[in-house]
Amino acid sequence: MELKEKELENKLSTFNNCCRQKQLKITPQRVEVYKALIACSDHPSAEMVYKKVKKNLPNISLDTVNRTLNTLSLIGAAFVVEGSGDVKRFDGNLESHQHLRCVRCKKIFDFYYESFETIKVPENLGHSFKILKTTVYVEGHCQTCLEQENKNK
Ligand SMILES: [Zn+2]
Ligand SMILES: [Zn+2]
Repeated sequence: MELKEKELENKLSTFNNCCRQKQLKITPQRVEVYKALIACSDHPSAEMVYKKVKKNLPNISLDTVNRTLNTLSLIGAAFVVEGSGDVKRFDGNLESHQHLRCVRCKKIFDFYYESFETIKVPENLGHSFKILKTTVYVEGHCQTCLEQENKNK
C-alpha cells in the first residue's frame, strides 16, 4: 500500500526535525532508507529495506542500510521491534501501537488497544531500573498460516 502524499510529507518533515535535533546530516541515503522503511507496513529486516533502496540507489550496500537503520533507531526516527528473535526487524511507525507476531511465518502486525498503552509496571521495579518503555507483544498464528494449517489437515 502506497502512503498518501500528504502523509509522506508529514513523516519526512518529522524525520528532518529528528535529524536536526540530533545534529545528524540529512543525506540522500538516510532519506531513501527512511522512505523505504515507512513504505513497508510489515516491519522489514535490513535486507528487505536494502532491496527497496537499491532500486533508487543502486550503489548502496547492505551494510550501509543496516548502519543507517540503526542510526535511525538511535535518533528515534524508527525503532527495532522487540523480541522478534532471528533477524532484527525495524518499524517506522512511531505512533504508539503494539505488535502481533506470527511465530510461523514471522510476519509482524500492528494493532492498537488503549488499555495496553497505559500498563502500570510494579512500582518497585522503577526504583532500581529506569523504565523507558513498556510494550505488549502477542504471539500466535496469523490468518494465512491458519488457513494453511487447515488445508493440510
Ligand atoms: Zn503467519
Ligand atoms: Zn509496528
